[in-house]
Amino acid sequence: MARLQAKYPLEKEYLQAVQEVLESIEDVYNQHPEFEKAKIVERLVEPDRIFTFRVTWIDDKGEVQTNTGYRIQFNSAIGPYKGGLRFHKAVTPSMLKFLGFEQTFKNALTTLPMGGAKGGSDFDPVGKSNDEIMRFCQAFMLELWNCIGPDQDIPAGDVGVGGREIGYLYGMYKKLARQYNTGVLTGKGGTWGGSILRPEATGFGALYFTQHLLQKAGKDIKGKKVALSGFGNVAWGAATKARELGAKVVAISGPDGVCEIPDGITPEMIDYMLVMRASNRNKVQDMADKFPGAVKFTAGKKSWCVPVDIALPCAFQNELSEEDAKELKANGCWCCCEVSNMGCQPGAIHFFQHNGILFAPGKAVNAGGVATSGLEMTQNAEHISWDAKEVDEKLHFIMKSIHEQCVKYGTQPDGSVDYVKGANIAGFMKVATAMLEQGTI
Ligand code: GLU
Repeated sequence: MARLQAKYPLEKEYLQAVQEVLESIEDVYNQHPEFEKAKIVERLVEPDRIFTFRVTWIDDKGEVQTNTGYRIQFNSAIGPYKGGLRFHKAVTPSMLKFLGFEQTFKNALTTLPMGGAKGGSDFDPVGKSNDEIMRFCQAFMLELWNCIGPDQDIPAGDVGVGGREIGYLYGMYKKLARQYNTGVLTGKGGTWGGSILRPEATGFGALYFTQHLLQKAGKDIKGKKVALSGFGNVAWGAATKARELGAKVVAISGPDGVCEIPDGITPEMIDYMLVMRASNRNKVQDMADKFPGAVKFTAGKKSWCVPVDIALPCAFQNELSEEDAKELKANGCWCCCEVSNMGCQPGAIHFFQHNGILFAPGKAVNAGGVATSGLEMTQNAEHISWDAKEVDEKLHFIMKSIHEQCVKYGTQPDGSVDYVKGANIAGFMKVATAMLEQGTI
């Protein structure tokens, strides 16, 4: 850690992600001198390679705009590089390195053969027109297409990149490569190689994981109050499944504030989340304007001030602080399943774990998204498509298996489960063993 801190002193998110994993695996690592001899940790914390490129495009006023694009191919020990693209104004190499590092462990947990990657750009989709989004995606792919391929590196969506963006990216890829290589991107449209349920998969998988966690703790999700953060694709899928399982979603949020929904979110409100996302306004207040009376908006507040049983951060890294964790507990919350990548700050995780609040980390809880991307790759390779029942069953089976891996590696002497440890050790053992078997490269 000291060596990495000296080498990358400004890469805060990356150092935070590495620190958490190294702390978790320390004991196991020390029991395996062969890992130490092969310098597995020193190799695992550095990305295999990073592509950085300029993306120039023309906005609706005819002005030339320039952004920076990245693709970080982190680790390919157990399969081709796999992970999403994030378009957000705050994107930096540190953010994408943390995400690529996390992705490597997450993908290992899915039981599918996928290595870790991440990419994206500091392009800010907020306030952009549909045409601007298209021109940016096309310019981005002009640089990226040479670095990716169905057995090489398979990007997908993340914050700011959904089905629409994947469509524009794929159109340009196909034109440049002159091949109908469906397996090069996941999250595609249903009529051109996309998997049914991929849009819902991250949220659905998170709720399946939560169900298993609650079951293990002797609890039931039915009738419980849930707070979500965000209103994008992940929160949308989570709200849909939470409602289906009989929970009551009483809060969603955005960068502008929180929307409280005392009687629980309705299917119409869930549908409206998609409209809000497509508008690129990034304002959750739109929900309260659309459903006055049923939804109360408070500016500048987060979902974590609303009294609930279960908190599901679904938005962005470090969105839940130690103070938020304390407020949740004071208001009766007893479970937090992190759906966003590294959504909770280290102080919040520490507080949850030392105050009897059930906690599970994003790399286990949100792995259903990339797992269903893996299922999309399989369908593309076979040139077939499965129905919703088949995909949902496979997703459910994968989430159950991820929960079992956490229990296997995370059960403590007192019988409780440390899900952070469990997920990190399970992912690490798989990747480290593969690296060892493939020699020093
Ligand atoms: N961005 C998602 C994640 O963080 C999905 C990646 C993918 O489907 O490749 O896992």
